[in-house]
Amino acid sequence: MHKLLAKQLAKTTDRAGAVDLDALCSAVSDAYEEADQDRRRTDRSIALMVEELDLLNSRDRGKLLAELKQQNNRFEAAVENMTQGLCMFDGEYRLIICNHRWLDLFDVPRDLGRPNTSFRAILEARLAHGHYPGRSIDELLAERLAIHKDRKPKTFEQRLANGRIVQTFHQPMADGGWVSTFEDITERRRNEAQIAHMSRHDALTDLANRVLLREKMEQCLARVRRGESLAVFFLDLDHFKSVNDSLGHAVGDAMLQAVADRLRGCVRESDTVARLGGDEFAILQVGAAQPTAATALAQRILDVLSTQIEIGGHQLVTGASVGIAVSPNDGDCPEQLMKNADLALYRAKQDGRNAFRFFEHDMDVKMKLRRSLELDLRKALAQGEFELFYQPVVNVSTNEITGAEALLRWNHPERGMVPPVEFISLSEEIGLIIPLGEWVLRTACADAATWEQDISVAVNLSPVQFKSNNLVTTVVSALASSGLPASRLELEITESVLMQDNDSTLKTLHQFRALGVRISMDDFGTGYSSLSYLRRFPFNKIKIDRSFIQDLPGEIDSLSIVRAVTGLGSSLGMATTAEGVETAEQLAVLREEGCTEMQGYIFSPPRPAREFVKLLRNPGRKLRAIR
Ligand code: C2E
Ligand code: MG
Ligand code: MG
Repeated sequence: MHKLLAKQLAKTTDRAGAVDLDALCSAVSDAYEEADQDRRRTDRSIALMVEELDLLNSRDRGKLLAELKQQNNRFEAAVENMTQGLCMFDGEYRLIICNHRWLDLFDVPRDLGRPNTSFRAILEARLAHGHYPGRSIDELLAERLAIHKDRKPKTFEQRLANGRIVQTFHQPMADGGWVSTFEDITERRRNEAQIAHMSRHDALTDLANRVLLREKMEQCLARVRRGESLAVFFLDLDHFKSVNDSLGHAVGDAMLQAVADRLRGCVRESDTVARLGGDEFAILQVGAAQPTAATALAQRILDVLSTQIEIGGHQLVTGASVGIAVSPNDGDCPEQLMKNADLALYRAKQDGRNAFRFFEHDMDVKMKLRRSLELDLRKALAQGEFELFYQPVVNVSTNEITGAEALLRWNHPERGMVPPVEFISLSEEIGLIIPLGEWVLRTACADAATWEQDISVAVNLSPVQFKSNNLVTTVVSALASSGLPASRLELEITESVLMQDNDSTLKTLHQFRALGVRISMDDFGTGYSSLSYLRRFPFNKIKIDRSFIQDLPGEIDSLSIVRAVTGLGSSLGMATTAEGVETAEQLAVLREEGCTEMQGYIFSPPRPAREFVKLLRNPGRKLRAIR
């Protein structure tokens, strides 16, 4: 190219006379050598420059050439340093310029980056590199030219065979050619996909999260409208909290992952398993015959979750409660279905867990009642609506009152007297049992301290109270402020307290004993493995549940149990109290069997504190009745 320039300059040298031709040629030559000549000039642009040079005098020419050189360098640097690939084709589909980035993006050999290379040759090179498997050059060419045909700017993406995604900005030019820039957006797309995945999946288990569950539900409900069915399952693990608390979060997390895997294994491809948070999961079962399919799936879930899971050397069993709502009968929008599945889950838990329940319409009514009760209950303590009744405990052989059990009553402003079965478990659920239990302890101790006889007062403790850290402190404080000797306080616990078997429960019980407080095992016989619990802690007293007493004397099984328990009590040095004694026949059997104490309507129902004090002063009439 420099020869061409030299020739043109030489033509004018005679007339102007002052140009150092060699120096000028050498400068131009150096400039063009430095640059990658192949992609810098088309023949046409050189011809143009030469034409322009013809019109100038030699001094201007020198200046112009220097400027051209500088501009050329800048342009070159700019194009090569772009992060995007760039190419420019003319109206004949021949390459004008491009950069290395563009050639490399499509694995086109660099020698094809020469000006004048045909667009077809470049596409052929890409094809030969395997970027468009199964496509022919004619197809590809036709497709690209179709993009260009309407002469409008366009943006499009191509996914190459090597997995990379290239975004193209195509800009037609006035001469019929085009300039395009290319960006490798593989990472961007991958990040976007990952963010999209994370926003709709649970990080720990990779199950769907609430957002995706809802989306899927909307999709399924569209199918329900075409006649399919949809069952929504809500699941709660039964003993997850204790695993998490006792073995730590790492084990808890591993357990949740194992549960997620098991749940995935229970469903079909078209179903969705989601984690809603904590130990709560949900499943959407679509297009199956209901309720048969839901019953089968629920049973499968209970089976797989009740087999042992081994985590870090621990053999764990979780178990689950499951609530099911089936669309369209139980709802036709996500909110209603989820609410109803949740109500059914609540029922499954109430019914003793490790069970599944379908939604029933009365659950809604009951839940509303429960909610209003909950609101009232939260206010009741502050408004002084609770009261303690006392039921005498009587020595079976002497007929003397040896103590009294404090039984909680709620004087509801509208409903009247509400019995504990209706509010104790609710107040446990909402945590009210902690302040309420403390109020019971303080009131019972204070009342008993005013009684004329030195008889004991028994207070029922909820398992939830054992989970709070300050139960012992509360007992100590109730005794101290009332002045009641510890030996007159009896604490009644049920097997469920020992079932949340951990060292701290036993430690608390031993602390009570050390204080001199007595401990009774209440409702004995209604739990699971009662005998092993008796071994675990030296109770002072066993209270035989009313359900065994009420069938006496006729029911042989009950009689055998009463006999076994009284025998056990006497050999372990524990007193035995029969609960719910109503008839003289029952009392006679209990005397016969060596039961030490009894409590029941035959002697007295639970009474308000003032009445109980009167009974203490004059127990004679009642006692005669049972002699
Ligand atoms: P529990 O501790 O086993 O109390 C005995 C229950 O049997 C009382 O029911 C009592 O009224 C009832 N009962 C006594 N004698 C007879 C009888 O001859 N026939 C019949 N049919 N029933 C009799 P109540 O007062 O309704 O209490 C029920 C349960 O509520 C109690 O069972 C106890 O588990 C719980 N509870 C009561 N007060 C408290 C409390 O202050 N704290 C806690 N955590 N639980 C309490
Ligand atoms: Mg009791
Ligand atoms: Mg009882």
